[in-house]
Order: sequence, then structure tokens, then C-alpha cells
Amino acid sequence: MKKEVLVIGGGMAGVEAAAFLSARTRGIPVRLVEMRPQVQTPAHKTDRLGELVCSNSLGSESKNTASSILKREMMGLGSLILDAAYKSKVPAGSALSVDREQFSQIITRSIEENPNIVVDRSEYTDLPQDQLCIVASGPLTSPALSKKLAQCLGQESLYFYDSISPIIEADSIDLSQTYFANRYDQEQGDYLNCPLSKSQYDELIEDLLQSEKVPVHNFEELKCFESCMPIEVMASRGHKSLSFGPMKPVGLEDPKTGKRPYAVLQLRRENDPTTMYNMVGFQSRMKWPEQKRVFRKIPGLQNAQFVRMGSMHRNTYIESPKVLNADLSIKNRPNVFVAGQLTGVEGYVESAATGIWAALQIYARWNDIEIDRPDENTAYGSLLRVITTHPLKSQFSPMNMNFGIFPPADIRQGRKGRKERRQHMDDRAKQSFETWTALNAGKVFHDEKVRDPRCQLQAS
Ligand SMILES: Cc1cc2nc3c(=O)[nH]c(=O)nc-3n(C[C@H](O)[C@H](O)[C@H](O)COP(=O)(O)OP(=O)(O)OC[C@H]3O[C@@H](n4cnc5c(N)ncnc54)[C@H](O)[C@@H]3O)c2cc1C
Repeated sequence: MKKEVLVIGGGMAGVEAAAFLSARTRGIPVRLVEMRPQVQTPAHKTDRLGELVCSNSLGSESKNTASSILKREMMGLGSLILDAAYKSKVPAGSALSVDREQFSQIITRSIEENPNIVVDRSEYTDLPQDQLCIVASGPLTSPALSKKLAQCLGQESLYFYDSISPIIEADSIDLSQTYFANRYDQEQGDYLNCPLSKSQYDELIEDLLQSEKVPVHNFEELKCFESCMPIEVMASRGHKSLSFGPMKPVGLEDPKTGKRPYAVLQLRRENDPTTMYNMVGFQSRMKWPEQKRVFRKIPGLQNAQFVRMGSMHRNTYIESPKVLNADLSIKNRPNVFVAGQLTGVEGYVESAATGIWAALQIYARWNDIEIDRPDENTAYGSLLRVITTHPLKSQFSPMNMNFGIFPPADIRQGRKGRKERRQHMDDRAKQSFETWTALNAGKVFHDEKVRDPRCQLQAS
């Protein structure tokens, strides 16, 4: 069990996990199994470790953004991908964008030159019985390994397609134009309804048909389930398909007029307390700027701030809240941990963050110590809470780092504006993470000095 740790997958999560465990002061031997170039995924193009499959952006670097808080915490844990990102950074305004070639070259070299890591270029198709292991094979996990995961977790706990609707920040919705009501039940108001007149509905359908869509990759056309049909495909099947489908107004009379609107967009609470709403049935493959342009025409959504846009793509992920322990190990196979997009996080940075976390927990197991998770005020605490306990109201689906998953800001002391609230949440996260580090750093970092890669950049 203690000979070496097996890490399956050399993507964002896998390289972080391998680097964390094998660092000089931790010294745990790692076998990192990466199937490329022997077996390719439908999206990767090279044999490099840490390859970015699509955009070259690792999200915002702006102060007071959820993504920058997560990055700050990852840097506190010695993130390899952020170190590589700052060394290969290209100018991109407030985003941390990288030269993808340089980025993956730095990561590959760092892993291959590490004497504690053996890189094994083969497809891994099993789950070990007793060896400590991290499965970080990503959204395009090979079919043979997916089958093994399904056998271990139960077929119903493994998803292959991701069809997601946009999520909106609650405080960006104009409540004066919307109303709370459940279908046929005016007493209960779980849903927030945006009523559309006939002309507004006609314009929406026209926009959905004319808008620019994300091009379809061949490998994504394998199956398109009826239940995850993009809204624009539904609209193309007939002018009234939406008003008889997800936008059906029946049982949703507007209390202001006493009349039934022509069509209704329902917004479902995404969390408790409610800081986010999900656009029910609005999964979409329109380009993101198009989604914003079209959806902001819906009454109440003129100033909508989107924390996640709609998308649909091949994405293998597991029902983590059901099958994982808090430390990211599998409940019925506790020697196997899961990290990366497979756990139900969305995005390069989020995936990498869970790779570090799974490694940290394996390190704790290896050394027979306990390391608690940081509290929910931190980015790590809130992200891990979403994937292991799923406090949200909708079906479990991939989640990126956003302010909606943090506990709401305390709005006392004049923190009424959005900017003040963000600042407060950022300060609160910083303080909580510092407290957590003070309690745990000795257990994890020994005499190692974790440096902020941005400082190294300035110094060099
Ligand atoms: C088409 C597509 C486009 C995306 N675009 C973006 C984007 O623009 N921005 C963004 O933030 N996120 C994007 N994502 C999500 C992105 O994949 C993840 O954010 C991130 O790369 C996931 O990290 P990971 O470590 O979980 O998986 P990956 O980075 O995909 O790494 C998994 C690795 O495991 C290997 N592997 C798979 N099966 C096996 C096996 N059986 N044995 C050995 N090795 C195996 C793969 O070859 C791969 O190298 C996209 C995803 C897809 C599918």
C-alpha cells in the first residue's frame, strides 16, 4: 500500500497531485500514468503533460474575483500549474492567459525531471485494490477506465454528457419585473418567474435561431439526449415548442395582472440562502456573448450577471456527493481518490485545485495525520463543499469557482454595494485561509518555503 502512489492522468489535476506528493520535503514516490501519445483523447493534440485542450486562459486575475481567491489559495499550497502559468504568461488584460506550448513544456519538464516521479505512458484500465491512487483522467476518460468506474460506483453515478443552463447572480435580477410562484400553486413561491409577452417571445425565438453557435466537434455528436436538448435546437423544431415546453405559462398567472403571460422563463433557486438562480431548461450552445445578449432581453434580466453560461459537451463526471468521502476518496474503495473534472468541478484551475487537495489528503493518510479542510469562507472550503455535499437545489452538475457558492456577504457596516460585498468576501476568505494555514502548515510544509510564483517572476 505504501510503495508508491499511483496517479492516473497527466492533465491539470494529475500533474498537481504528482508534484505535491513528490516535492522534496514530502518525498512520496509517484507513478504518473498518462495514456497519450499511445492513446489519444478526442480533444488533446500533443503528448505533453498539462495540455490545455481549448482556451489558453486560466481565468481572472482581477482583485476580488472568486477565481483569483482560489488561485491565491492554490499558490499558498505551491501550485505547479500556476507557477508554469506565471512563467508562460501572455498579455490578456485582467485574465491569466498563457502561451500554451510553453505552459505544457514547463509542466512536462518539471514532472519528467523529478526523481520521485516515474512517468508511465500507457492507458490504465483498472482501479487498484489496495494501492493509494488518484484517478484524474478528466472529462475525456478513456472508455475502458470509464467502464471500470461505472462498475465501482454504479452506472447511475457516472455521467457522460454535460448539458448545463446558465446561472445568474440573484442580486442582479430586477425583481420588480418578476414574480415568485410555483406552477398551479400561487401560495408557494420557490420559482422566480420572468413573464414574456407575445412580441417578447417572438423576438426571443428569432434571436435563438439567428444567434451564433459554438461549432460542433465530431466526437460530441455521438448522442444527444432529448432531456438535454439545447434551447435553440428546441426552438428550431417549431415556433411554439418552447411555449409548450420549458416556457409553458400554464398555472403561472402573473399576480400583478391576474393574467397568464404568453410564456414564462422559470428561475430555480440554486442554493440556500439564495444567491444564485438557474435558468430552467435553458441549456444552450450559443456562443457566450450571444447568450448574454439574448438572455438579457428577457424581462427582469436586463442587468443579469452570469456566474456560469450554458454549455453542452462531452464530459465524464461522477456524482461526487453520493460516492465520495470528504477527503475525495471513494466511499466503497477508500484507497482510491478522485480529482479534477471527474469530481464535478468545471475548469482548468478548479480541476488543478482538487488535484492538490486529493494529494494533500493522501499525504495525510500516508503519514497518519489529519488535515481538516479550510472553512466555507475560503475558495477551497466552498468548492469542496459543493462537490462533496451538494448543498445546491438542482441536479448535481459541474460547477466552476464563483461567488455564489461562498456564504453570502455580511451586509452590515455599509457593505451594501456589490463591490463592497466582494471586497468583504475576499478579505474574509484571506483571513480564513491564513488561519487554516497557521494550523496546518507545519504538518504539510515542514521547513519548505512556499513562494508566490508572481514574486519569483519579479525577482528573476
Ligand atoms: C472539449 C473540451 C473543451 C474544454 N475547454 C475548456 C476551457 O476552455 N477552459 C477551461 O477552463 N476548461 C475547459 N474544459 C474543461 C477542461 O477539460 C478541464 O477544465 C481540465 O482540463 C480538466 O482537468 P483534468 O485534470 O480533470 O483532466 P485533463 O486535463 O483532461 O487530464 C486528464 C488526462 O488523463 C488522461 N487519461 C484519460 N484516460 C486515461 C487512462 N485510462 N489512462 C491514462 N491516462 C488517461 C488524458 O489523456 C489526459 O491527459 C474543456 C473540456 C473539454 C472536454
